Amino acid sequence: MPIEPTRRDFIRAGGTGLLAAAAIPLAPPDKQRPDLQVLKPGGKKVGWAIVGLGQLALAQVMPAFREAKLSRPVALVSGHPEKARAVADTYGVDPKNIYNYDNFDSIKDNPDVDVVYIILPNSMHAEYTMRSAKAGKHVLCEKPMCANVAEAQHMIDACKAAGKKLMVAYRLRFEPYNKAAIQFCREKLCGPIVQMEMSNMQNTRPPNIRLSKALAGGPLGDIGVYCINACRYLSGEEPVEVTAMLYQPADDPRFAEVPRDYVFTMRFPSGVHAHCGVTFGSNSSRRYRVHCTDGYIDMEHPFGYSGQELRSFKQRQETKHNLETVNHFAAEMDHLSDCVLNDKDPLTPGEEGLADMRVIAAIEEAARTGQRTKI
Ligand code: NAD
Repeated sequence: MPIEPTRRDFIRAGGTGLLAAAAIPLAPPDKQRPDLQVLKPGGKKVGWAIVGLGQLALAQVMPAFREAKLSRPVALVSGHPEKARAVADTYGVDPKNIYNYDNFDSIKDNPDVDVVYIILPNSMHAEYTMRSAKAGKHVLCEKPMCANVAEAQHMIDACKAAGKKLMVAYRLRFEPYNKAAIQFCREKLCGPIVQMEMSNMQNTRPPNIRLSKALAGGPLGDIGVYCINACRYLSGEEPVEVTAMLYQPADDPRFAEVPRDYVFTMRFPSGVHAHCGVTFGSNSSRRYRVHCTDGYIDMEHPFGYSGQELRSFKQRQETKHNLETVNHFAAEMDHLSDCVLNDKDPLTPGEEGLADMRVIAAIEEAARTGQRTKI
């Protein structure tokens, strides 16, 4: 059925603009739009188990499944059965697929679960990654990857031995503004990089897993890892040496177990230097600037869930770059689902987390000893 008025319709209508306009359909035609996206009925969605129903899982990850195209929640793991039942109800998860930390290993018998997403305190990431691999499941593990370098290596080894994929949840690698900044750096939009500066600041209030030493909290792993990872992905290099200082105020009970601040520098093989500051004690503030020979690349809110603002400055002209946004969590989950469905390697595998853990260890040592520390 033609939806455009024909020439005859137009002549019959007397050729007036008014009647011609009346022939234009004001509502969609009864046939489907040619660009309507319908998921193929046979198109498999990968089944995800979410381990740890805390702030990130409930406020970001579970809602993100609504925007995911290849991923669906099929199981929950929690120590709080009532909360888990309520979450299962909201997101259509079969209550028989609710596990706790004691019966978690029986998830191996659940064919609906392809991937386990670990959203627990950092001290528990290694244990649950290894238990998931042993259960024959692929793993997405939250950042920071774990508590130390040795654990990171064990996690990689366990997933390799099980023939399962391990990805660390570096959502910004799937976020358009950070992706564009990487591209600008690779293309030397403002010339080669000379220095980078980054900060990631927030006020962390108790009770919070981030303030517990036993749970591997502290600002370096929690928010410093964003700066370390960004310096690595923007420069495309691995740092070779670091210096660092920390501050742990004696008069603030929040920081009885973990430092409040870290400031650190990293030196890269090409001669690029980065200086970074992170704190759990100031108002939220997040930004980076990549200083290049002919200008700079600036990002406000580079590490947030949204609100990224990207500018480049070159030849006395500033350009603000406006890009389409995505849900970071849906994008990263769908990336791993695609890897599982099509047997591809994740963009941010365990080795990427291990590289950051090595830098974290060097920064901790440099802060403790006051010495420049090689990686
Ligand atoms: P949270 O404290 O809100 O959640 C932690 C969950 O672990 C809770 O449900 C808690 O009940 C459970 N848990 C199980 N055993 C526990 C134990 N022994 N002690 C304490 N809690 C226990 O924390 P969160 O903010 O959701 O962070 C969880 C993880 O996600 C951390 O690794 C954090 O770094 C990471 N995270 C990542 C992002 C990101 O943008 N990628 C953002 C926030 C948090």
